[in-house]
Amino acid sequence: PARRAGTTRTTLTHCPYCSLQCGMEVTAGDRPATLVPADFPTNRGGLCSKGWSSTELLDHPERLLRPLVRSIPGDRTSPLVEATWDDALGRLVDAIERTQRVHGRDAVGCFGGGSLTNEQAYQFGKFARVALRTSAIDYNGRFCMSSAAGAANRAFGLDRGMPFPLADIAAADVVVLVGSNPADTMPPAMQYFDAGRERGAQHVVVDPRRTATARSAALHLQPLPGTDLALANGLLHIALAEGLVDEAYVAARTSGFDEVRAGVAAYWPDRVERLTGVPVADQRRTVFALARAERAIVLTARGAEQHRSGTDTAQAYINLALALGLPGRPGSGWGTVTGQGNGQGGREHGQKADQLPGYRSLRDPAARAHVAAVWGIDPDDLPAPGRSAFELLDALGTDGGVRTLLVLASNVAVSAPDARRVIRRLGDLDFLAVSDFFLSETAELADVVLPSAMWAEEDGTMTNVEGRVIRRRRSLDPPPGVPDDLQLLATLADRLGAGQHFSGDPETVFEELRRASAGGVADYSGISYRRIDDEQGVFWPCPDTPDGTAHPGTPRLFAERFATPDGRARFVRVEHVDAHERPDDEYPYVLTTGRVLAQYQSGTQTRRTRSLQMVAPTPRAELHPDLARRLGIGPDDVVELTTRRGRARFHALVTDAIRPDVVFVPFHWGGGSSANALTDADALDPTSKMPAFKVCAVAVARVEGP
Ligand code: SF4
Repeated sequence: PARRAGTTRTTLTHCPYCSLQCGMEVTAGDRPATLVPADFPTNRGGLCSKGWSSTELLDHPERLLRPLVRSIPGDRTSPLVEATWDDALGRLVDAIERTQRVHGRDAVGCFGGGSLTNEQAYQFGKFARVALRTSAIDYNGRFCMSSAAGAANRAFGLDRGMPFPLADIAAADVVVLVGSNPADTMPPAMQYFDAGRERGAQHVVVDPRRTATARSAALHLQPLPGTDLALANGLLHIALAEGLVDEAYVAARTSGFDEVRAGVAAYWPDRVERLTGVPVADQRRTVFALARAERAIVLTARGAEQHRSGTDTAQAYINLALALGLPGRPGSGWGTVTGQGNGQGGREHGQKADQLPGYRSLRDPAARAHVAAVWGIDPDDLPAPGRSAFELLDALGTDGGVRTLLVLASNVAVSAPDARRVIRRLGDLDFLAVSDFFLSETAELADVVLPSAMWAEEDGTMTNVEGRVIRRRRSLDPPPGVPDDLQLLATLADRLGAGQHFSGDPETVFEELRRASAGGVADYSGISYRRIDDEQGVFWPCPDTPDGTAHPGTPRLFAERFATPDGRARFVRVEHVDAHERPDDEYPYVLTTGRVLAQYQSGTQTRRTRSLQMVAPTPRAELHPDLARRLGIGPDDVVELTTRRGRARFHALVTDAIRPDVVFVPFHWGGGSSANALTDADALDPTSKMPAFKVCAVAVARVEGP
């Protein structure tokens, strides 16, 4: 149990895990840290099992408390041994300087994560561009939110996961959820759906699995993975054929509809049924429910977005929402359900390969000049955009690729697609440094491992699923000598001779972030720590006002205009493209991946949480009884799944909740049960560079033994 010297105090902070960012009160000091849920607007007193158990890890026996280095420098077969900070940072700085001297600045890279605070994400992007002057930085949100972000930017000129508050879900008469399972991934959010249902609202869930969320819905559509775009175009086809399109809204607030109108003409309902497996009657019920509702919301998530055409798929659902006149109306619109705790803020402040703080483009001369002025550097010294996450990882150790890599808050050896290929690439590096609280599968491969403070031990801000900027508050001190990533970056910058540009103090960094974001799309300049405290979070955009009056923040976007130059939302014609891999004789089934309630992301934390491990100790492959019977597989048998990338073993979970042609595995584990050892990384979405986590071809066989 977490126990630190000092006076016991209770602090309002937020869960370390998903993007709902449930409020919780943590009590810590001279007794073990405990928590109770807070009556915060996101969770209204609710927490899921992950949140409830989150203090278990603060004093976990496997927690890293001192840096680790290889006993023989440069030899990754030698054991990791404890070292001083001076030794560990010295090795990292030597590697950075040596690599850049021999191979150039871009040969040193940075890889971040969507769990970093806004301040840490901002500082990491600045560290790459100012202290390292490298273009090589990206983050794991590229594997999560990037398709929806690409579509929202294209259609609305702005990407904020949900452009409306969570409370709008409760106010909507119809909600269509595509590839999202909040009942398992963020259970307290279900209270918004439940409140709607109690008023008589109808919910439609689109998912190849009959999940807990699907079971609570009025209608469940069960498409073949990778066909969500065809379904959306088919729904719009029906809306047009039945005269359900809001022509006045389309004329007044959008552009480009004629081309979309022509494009969806080819998506006849029976053709869509053949492509997706969704019956025509269910397609029609969905469209009529959406079109006749006073208030209606369409939400997409990873099930629809993690595809080679993920951006276009999200766009197809935006097209549908626009045609029905939803975005910008209260209780209505399109949104995406973010995954990671700071998946939203993580992509706004400059740790993406092509972006600067304020969601500014690194290609925009005015944006470069603005941010360079805040940073006190010459705009010409800012690097060009670099490679996206998987492209960066796939080029590790190559000529022109990164040769020394610093990883913060990410476990790519488990979470990246085609994970064994990524592990091989990590092995090709000259030097790998990882900052984490535990020896993750990625940290195990490192030359230097740097321990970092955990959520309850640090201050900063996070931006949640609805664009609400909230405060993570320090509830207890970190173990002696363990810094948070903000302090780590400031110290490293100092050793690299750029210390004057960096601070380890969160509020100082936030004040700079405000200035860097001013005038950008994600404008935080009117937000302060005090306002967040007083107002239970502030929604961006929230610009600083010239007359000093407080801007109220923007819970609901697009009421008057969209963030495009002409104020109109853009329809974009998009076409169904079949998945990169479809079943054949050798790999006859479709593999899809996702999450389970008691685990989180790559499992670095939740697999070490005793109470969660008791619920979900091992990953299970879900198979339909028909498929199990055909292959002679019984409940709990061990099955081996094989794809063109590799093999992995799981215990079978035979359930009629899944399509007979689809196998599902959760991705929270590595090693011999690594779902991502199987996934396809060879077909990235052209806009977002999202890999196709959600569909590839797989063979299934029962095997003996573990
Ligand atoms: Fe934490 Fe998300 Fe669970 Fe809330 S729903 S307790 S934020 S994991």
